[in-house]
Amino acid sequence: MTALEISPLRRALRAWYRPRREGYPWRRQGTGPYAVLVSEVMLQQTQVARVASAFEGFLRRFPDVSSLAAASRADVVRAWAGLGYHRRAVALHETARTIVRMHGGTVPPDPRALRQLPGVGPYTASAVAAIAFGRPFVAMDVNVRRVTSRVVLGREPEDGNGRQIATAARLLLDPRSPGTWNQAMMDLGREVCRPVPRCEVCPLERWCRFRDAGRPGTTTTARKQPAFEGSNRQARGRIVAVLRDRPSAGIAGLVAATGIDVDRVEGAAAGLVRDGIVERRGRSFRLAR
Ligand code: SF4
Repeated sequence: MTALEISPLRRALRAWYRPRREGYPWRRQGTGPYAVLVSEVMLQQTQVARVASAFEGFLRRFPDVSSLAAASRADVVRAWAGLGYHRRAVALHETARTIVRMHGGTVPPDPRALRQLPGVGPYTASAVAAIAFGRPFVAMDVNVRRVTSRVVLGREPEDGNGRQIATAARLLLDPRSPGTWNQAMMDLGREVCRPVPRCEVCPLERWCRFRDAGRPGTTTTARKQPAFEGSNRQARGRIVAVLRDRPSAGIAGLVAATGIDVDRVEGAAAGLVRDGIVERRGRSFRLAR
């Protein structure tokens, strides 16, 4: 793909993204690095619509790094309601404490420093550096990876080479506004260039090699999610929901309140204790303080 092609491609994606730009609360004017960090941690494993409904409440409760750092673990887990995967709440809480201790309460702009924070991997570090600080990094989530691989390399990401996809993503990245670019690519992958792509409404159709090759919708089927019903994740979520409303509960109380059998409740409760989300006091469990 040449520079002559990349400029109009970027323009087309920017124009498509413009009306979506303020579509989520963490993208609105005046949102600082702390809010970007919180939103990116929430978005790691939770659908965007659920994050949209929980994000503002969380920010009202903990408006800045120091208020989150000073909170109790139990209050952070309570404010995480509806988002699932509570280990992230614990990691975010630890991250706020680390930022206060090591960075004077200010989110660091450098991805290497960001990656030292609990629960912040390469993707989240690049996303925060690009979106909050305008640094030229690609936030390579599953959507960005799929769009890049299809448009530039003309194949599904599973059929390609990770290094080539990373190089192609850096080639496309708009250096004038890396944060906007990353979010536009994420939105395109989520709304249009889905596993079964909707090329007829895609702003990149003119330049897309995958489309040119006549492959849309022929090779990829949506990946099947593991069943939630009966899973350990379901048991953990229900136990945390019970302990949000009660000061403590024993195994029998948790079995009665969750409707889940005793073996699963015991296993899930032990995992929550290991992850620092719940603590055990004698025969009772409560949210960690
Ligand atoms: S043209 Fe089709 S395959 Fe190419 S980026 Fe757009 S939606 Fe994806």
